[in-house]
Amino acid sequence: MSNDSIFKKIIEKKIPANIIYEDEIVTAFKDIKPKAPIHILVIPNILIASSNDINKKNKDILGHMFYVAVNIAKQKKINKEGYRIIVNCNKNAGQEINYLHMHLLGGKKLNAL
Ligand code: AMP
Repeated sequence: MSNDSIFKKIIEKKIPANIIYEDEIVTAFKDIKPKAPIHILVIPNILIASSNDINKKNKDILGHMFYVAVNIAKQKKINKEGYRIIVNCNKNAGQEINYLHMHLLGGKKLNAL
């Protein structure tokens, strides 16, 4: 399985995931190896390989991903204490899955960048 198809299969419900939110544009699910008490991934329902592939046609999806991530932070009640939203791009940032994803991290004091 190529590493982009893991997330495609999660959207298609072909492999199990702890999905906490989905709509016609995005899917959000718990990270399998959480780095914080709250660690959720928000992904577009169409394949965008990395932030290098954001373009005029798909750019509104990113705003929706951010909106959904913030709403999840509010729903999980980590918005007052704070949280971090990260998008890794390619090898220097440690992007392992070639399918654009937003990490929502919170529930503890996070290390400074
Ligand atoms: P990145 O390093 O930004 O590419 O992050 C990829 C993330 O995907 C990592 O935090 C992994 O723990 C997570 N991950 C990989 N496979 C799965 C899966 N099947 N279900 C949930 N999260 C996953």
